[in-house]
Amino acid sequence: MTLHIYNTASRQKEKFVPRDPKNVGMYVCGPTVWDFAHIGNARPVVIFDILARLLRIEYGNDHVNYVRNITDVEDKIIDAAKANGESIDDLTTRTTEAFHEDMAALGALPPNREPRATEHIEDMVEMIGTLIGKGHAYEAEGHVLFDVQSMPTYGKLSGRNRDDMIAGARVEIAPYKKDPADFVLWKPSTPDIVGWDSPWGRGRPGWHIECSVMSKAELGDTFDIHGGGRDLIFPHHENEVAQSCCAHGEETFAQYWVHNGFLTVEGEKMSKSLGNFRTVRELLAEAPGEALRLNMLSAHYRQPLDWTSDGVKQSKTNLDRLYTSLQSLSDVDADLDAVASDVQAALEDDINTPKALTALYALSSAANKETDPESRARLKGKLLSGGKMLGVLLQEPTDWFHNDTDDGISGDEIDTLIAERIQAKADKNYARSDEIRDNLKEQGITLEDGAGGTTWKRV
Ligand code: AMP
Ligand code: ZN
Repeated sequence: MTLHIYNTASRQKEKFVPRDPKNVGMYVCGPTVWDFAHIGNARPVVIFDILARLLRIEYGNDHVNYVRNITDVEDKIIDAAKANGESIDDLTTRTTEAFHEDMAALGALPPNREPRATEHIEDMVEMIGTLIGKGHAYEAEGHVLFDVQSMPTYGKLSGRNRDDMIAGARVEIAPYKKDPADFVLWKPSTPDIVGWDSPWGRGRPGWHIECSVMSKAELGDTFDIHGGGRDLIFPHHENEVAQSCCAHGEETFAQYWVHNGFLTVEGEKMSKSLGNFRTVRELLAEAPGEALRLNMLSAHYRQPLDWTSDGVKQSKTNLDRLYTSLQSLSDVDADLDAVASDVQAALEDDINTPKALTALYALSSAANKETDPESRARLKGKLLSGGKMLGVLLQEPTDWFHNDTDDGISGDEIDTLIAERIQAKADKNYARSDEIRDNLKEQGITLEDGAGGTTWKRV
């Protein structure tokens, strides 16, 4: 395998060469757990899940350390807990669990390690102390700030000049800063706000230092891949580079910076603040997780992806076709040595998921036409192998066609009606048996009478 990946740091596609030829370390910024995740938040989770799957194929399951953190201390969390009248612990436990459930429903495997910011406060205090000791940070009015003038290469990752940085969003102007671009490493907490003792008084860490410290704890001072959505390039990742390189005296923090583009709604970034968001949870009540995932993969990860219900419907139809192919191959055992090399080649080319999906559909068309049993077994193996790389086609076809949604008739209700129809036929009450079939058809349920009895499909 030769993975090529676009590196934000060099602004070009590069061949991926890990620092250690046998082991890969990847850190992806995880959620701030204050509320349900929206489908935009799920985009980096799904994309980096694909990248982790690909790396595990090449380097082996035990040689890829995929770390995704949980930000469980941040001002949004403090505000949300207060507004809900709930403790911070209760809020972060509840929303972390919901995040895990939602991402699993989207077919994302758990990362190898999932550090929480609150487990690393001591390490943060230590790193901030190091930065002060090396002249890269200073204390002011209970805050500790990173001194951007102390780092000549500050701004290199994002390619911003000083004026852009100051004018840019999220740079807070405050009187105690030596330079408006300086950013907070530690801030004071009033007695009613969560805080920890530190040499600079009781307070809490800034968001950026959390990721510098958690990535160091799990992967070391420098590592291979760092990922997240493109909104994190500045200031979050720029500031992580500054903190980590200055604290460790290294020139490089992560070798490859990988950023996904935005999931949009009518051309605008989906976000909580704009109010144009749909939670993963809401969407899962309307469509199977695999259909949401396939829709996510329909655009290249660096391009914007406009989220529409038509797109989700199309993805569901595409999966119906793939599962129909798989179902028609039920008479042969999959050749487990078969590899979907076209799917893999597309993914190795900067995670080209649209091209990988085209390759998967081509396998399905070929399988539909093939009659030779050995070739069919090989195509079945390839379909399953390609599906696994993409995190789809993971169900038994019958389970897929039986999937329940909140707003449709349930599988149990369908089974009851099928039993009633069989009885109606036995009683020669054909008007009733036809009525049952027609009613189900109207609800998107197709009955198929075969030698083994009646089966059904939700399409
Ligand atoms: P947040 O909890 O806002 O820090 O976001 C968690 C992750 O989701 C980060 O990697 C963000 O870059 C990413 N993200 C947030 N909104 C979107 C969006 N609309 N499209 C793609 N990625 C997003
Ligand atoms: Zn981060």
